[in-house]
Amino acid sequence: AKKAVLEPLVGAVDQGTSSTRFLVFNSKTAELLSHHQVEIKQEFPREGWVEQDPKEILQSVYECIEKTCEKLGQLGIDISNIKAIGVCNQRETTVVWDKLTGEPLYSAVVWLDLRTQSTVENLSQRIPGNNNFVKSKTGLPLSTYFSAVKLRWLLDNVRKIQKAVEENRALFGTVDSWLIWNLTGGVRGGVHCTDVTNASRTMLFNIHSLKWDEDLCEFFEIPMEILPSIRSSSEIYGLMKTGALEGVPISGCLGDQSAALVGQMCFQNGQTKNTYGTGCFLLCNTGRKCVFSEHGLLTTVAYKLGRDKPVYYALEGSVAIAGAVVRWLRDNLGIIKTSEEIEKLAKEVGTSYGCYFVPAFSGLYAPYWEPSARGIICGLTQFTNKCHIAFAALEAVCFQTREILDAMNRDCGIPLSHLQVDGGMTRNKILMQLQADILYIPVLKPSMSETTALGAAMAAGAAEGVGVWSLEPEDLSAVTMERFEPQINAEECEIRYSTWKKAVMKSMGCVT
Ligand code: ADP
Repeated sequence: AKKAVLEPLVGAVDQGTSSTRFLVFNSKTAELLSHHQVEIKQEFPREGWVEQDPKEILQSVYECIEKTCEKLGQLGIDISNIKAIGVCNQRETTVVWDKLTGEPLYSAVVWLDLRTQSTVENLSQRIPGNNNFVKSKTGLPLSTYFSAVKLRWLLDNVRKIQKAVEENRALFGTVDSWLIWNLTGGVRGGVHCTDVTNASRTMLFNIHSLKWDEDLCEFFEIPMEILPSIRSSSEIYGLMKTGALEGVPISGCLGDQSAALVGQMCFQNGQTKNTYGTGCFLLCNTGRKCVFSEHGLLTTVAYKLGRDKPVYYALEGSVAIAGAVVRWLRDNLGIIKTSEEIEKLAKEVGTSYGCYFVPAFSGLYAPYWEPSARGIICGLTQFTNKCHIAFAALEAVCFQTREILDAMNRDCGIPLSHLQVDGGMTRNKILMQLQADILYIPVLKPSMSETTALGAAMAAGAAEGVGVWSLEPEDLSAVTMERFEPQINAEECEIRYSTWKKAVMKSMGCVT
């Protein structure tokens, strides 16, 4: 049966670490009409290095757009109803390309990459004044995680990039910039821009002035002419240059975690969400105030939904490895064939039987910020089997979230009464139940799980000159939530949690 949809539609590119998606929503009901998804390759050329191919990323976006448009056609939905496109993306991942040829000058250095450990050590010895120089301007600790040090490494080590900079041909961008530049025409007049949320993860951006910071660029020795222009998260950046959606404005841009915050409608001070993807990211909206953490959390830009709209900030707890541990069990150990299979293994035993798995593959992020930590599995006996290890892997994700939530509660002073969740891993019901047990508060999951893409679509649809989406809280009032209540007793949980913390200490002793 053909379905006639007359309402304006909005598309969203969701370019994550594991996969790329294109999704199309009805702007009036926020209903997801169609989507297409493609998994993205990750290369690990050396210990600690994580790379992706910028061209594969771009191709996957084109493929997802074309396939989704085909599917809409099959549903009898006219794609000319798509009035705007939003982009949300894996953050911090660093791309440098040639503006004359459009060719990337190196692989994309992924946020998880650890090659900059010595770059960070060298820089930290040179921080002018006091250690607050970087933190007070950017809200971030000096770490391998953020783009500035990755860009520094590329400028130091890649001859092609040095040459392109000298010849004024190099452009830098996070994945949003790389995509928008290409989608709006690339070498034929592509727009080189980024939004405030993505910029706030580069470590070159001043979160108070909302501009590239000259002192930071001088400290990291970054030539400012290669940086993209900074825009709000909701405005028309340019038009799609080719393909089925040629001429449609790209009018939303948010880092994936900010997009999830918007998609979960966390617009009020104190509203919090946790997204379980490759990593795990808990963000708490702190309103128009920049709050600095005393407990290892980051201060970041939450969103700025329009050129003349105010900026909102968030406190963020970042966990590097969440879904990535499931992918590791699949690709490196081969104990599961698909990510979903982990649920079956974990269910079979229902306990890790004293086994603890600290997946510190990329060091530890919040609240420890210890790049030299490495993964460990401990508490093994002859009784331990793959099911216990699978369970311990899921439990690790929950314990890491507990550590972040504890830090957040300490920083905010008001303990959270429930946790709103989303992301690819939240399909796993065992994980969700375990999370409620370990946090000892209810976990709430929206029935529409694509909240990250929804956030980008909302930003795009609400932009000036598009105006097909009003950002009122009623918009999503129809969304139903699945609830997971804590079931086990708190005492048992506390014992397991304190053993987990001991395991974390051991992982930090594993200096390579
Ligand atoms: P990203 O936005 O980082 O690309 P997604 O939100 O798409 O990530 O989630 C994908 C991650 O979730 C992958 O790392 C995958 O291993 C994990 N994942 C997907 N389904 C499940 C599942 N049923 N149980 C556990 N993990 C899962």
